[in-house]
Amino acid sequence: MSHEKGMQADVVIIGGGASGLCAALTLAYGGASVLVFEQEAEPGGMTNFAEGMFAVGSRLQKKHKVGLTVEEAFNVHMEETHWLANPRLVRAFMDKTAETVDWLEAQGAEFAGLFNISPFTPRVWHQMVGFGKEGLIKPLFKKAEKQDNIEIHFETEVKRLLLEDGRVVGAVAEGKDGTVITAAARAVIIASGGYQDNQEWVDKYCKSGFTRPVVPARQVGSGARMAWEVGAEPYDMGVMQTIVLVPEEDLQSQLLTAGFQPRLWVNTLGERFTNEAICWKFPMAGNALARQPGAMAWCIFDDDSRVVMKEKGVNYVLGEFYDILKNLPDVDAELERGIAAGKVFKGETLGALAAKIGVPAATLRETVDEYNAAYDGQKDWIFDKDRMYLDPVRKAPFYAVKLGLAAFMTNGGIRINHKTEVLKEDRAVIPGLYAAGCSAGGILGDTYEVSTTGGSLSFAVNTGRMAGESALEYLGK
Ligand SMILES: Cc1cc2nc3c(=O)[nH]c(=O)nc-3n(C[C@H](O)[C@H](O)[C@H](O)COP(=O)(O)OP(=O)(O)OC[C@H]3O[C@@H](n4cnc5c(N)ncnc54)[C@H](O)[C@@H]3O)c2cc1C
Repeated sequence: MSHEKGMQADVVIIGGGASGLCAALTLAYGGASVLVFEQEAEPGGMTNFAEGMFAVGSRLQKKHKVGLTVEEAFNVHMEETHWLANPRLVRAFMDKTAETVDWLEAQGAEFAGLFNISPFTPRVWHQMVGFGKEGLIKPLFKKAEKQDNIEIHFETEVKRLLLEDGRVVGAVAEGKDGTVITAAARAVIIASGGYQDNQEWVDKYCKSGFTRPVVPARQVGSGARMAWEVGAEPYDMGVMQTIVLVPEEDLQSQLLTAGFQPRLWVNTLGERFTNEAICWKFPMAGNALARQPGAMAWCIFDDDSRVVMKEKGVNYVLGEFYDILKNLPDVDAELERGIAAGKVFKGETLGALAAKIGVPAATLRETVDEYNAAYDGQKDWIFDKDRMYLDPVRKAPFYAVKLGLAAFMTNGGIRINHKTEVLKEDRAVIPGLYAAGCSAGGILGDTYEVSTTGGSLSFAVNTGRMAGESALEYLGK
């Protein structure tokens, strides 16, 4: 039998990830009472899996003489997003990032250091010790638990918002045991993450289609849906943090690292389709793959390359999971595991390999000949891949590792302004409603942008704080 109960606070927050917890602490420090509803049994959402966050002008950067300015980062970001992002919002969040790193450290967050995602991008990625779970969520949650004016309810899913005279005045949630909670509040902050687990929306809105979440959860865009129901403008749908992965492999797997290398990639027609070094900008590699039949491809290499990976090192790594040039000692066992799982195929000839992976043998032969000629001439005259990534494919046996599309998260759903206030289609503010983190749109264009590496998590923590500050102002505190 289900029960009903009432609750009351100054502000209700939907979601206990980075944006939700940052908003909660900001509000609590400002003297507001807060109810956080989190649908899972633990805090952190996707933030638990994040490695690091973007900041510009932080103390760490000053210490390491990274001279990037907010203006430079802003211009790069706006250029890379083709000015589709909301410039006021981007500037407001970027202005805050350095101070937010200090604020997070004051909450107990721990940063391991500064990194860049590629040799071509600035060192803006502030990585947390123990990733998001240990380095960020644990200390934020600990702080929140100690605040008398924050109550966090787990396994409690917010279902809808309460609207009265055009103002948002609370939310209705449901506990695990079916208890329906009507929470009265003067403001609500939506911090519910993305919709990457909502396949219907992914198919409908995302050009990349086919995509599967790297970390499956229950992020179905309920925050966006609730905001739309009270008149918010659906905004920036379709932006995904896509990535090329070996299907169903852990980010730490050596098989994934062996397959996601800037070696020769061919589509199901046996054709090369990109400069494979685009993997340094992983969402763009995702774009290239998304345009191929079935959004899949094969990473092809020969036995010499296998030995290089085993004994010498790899050319590319995703994040800090592997050091560049670190070798893959288990690559043989990993390839065998992949063969058993149907993710890797091996052939004594290219023809035999083509037959196994179902691509036209003549085209694959032609592609490999062309690629080997590029290696011999040290010039990729088709896609201009840096010569350091050209390896010949000559020595049997030949390998093909399956590549598919996955996504970390989606960004977008709710239109907000630079104060994180939720807007209607006519740009009027919905009083009492704010959105932060991945549930809000306005930070990107059509593709996740990695020159400002760690921008998504940074947007979450900074807009979380901004939403808290704006709500305090609204409450008159
Ligand atoms: C493997 C992985 C690695 C990543 N690495 C990075 C990185 O290095 N740098 C970076 O910038 N970004 C990274 N990201 C993205 C990053 O995790 C997000 O940008 C960030 O976590 C978003 O924070 P958020 O608060 O918006 O969402 P979340 O942290 O996911 O929090 C949203 C919370 O809302 C809850 N929720 C949803 N709906 C409801 C509801 N109706 N009622 C109650 N609760 C609800 C969810 O359960 C969740 O806990 C990564 C993502 C993944 C998956």
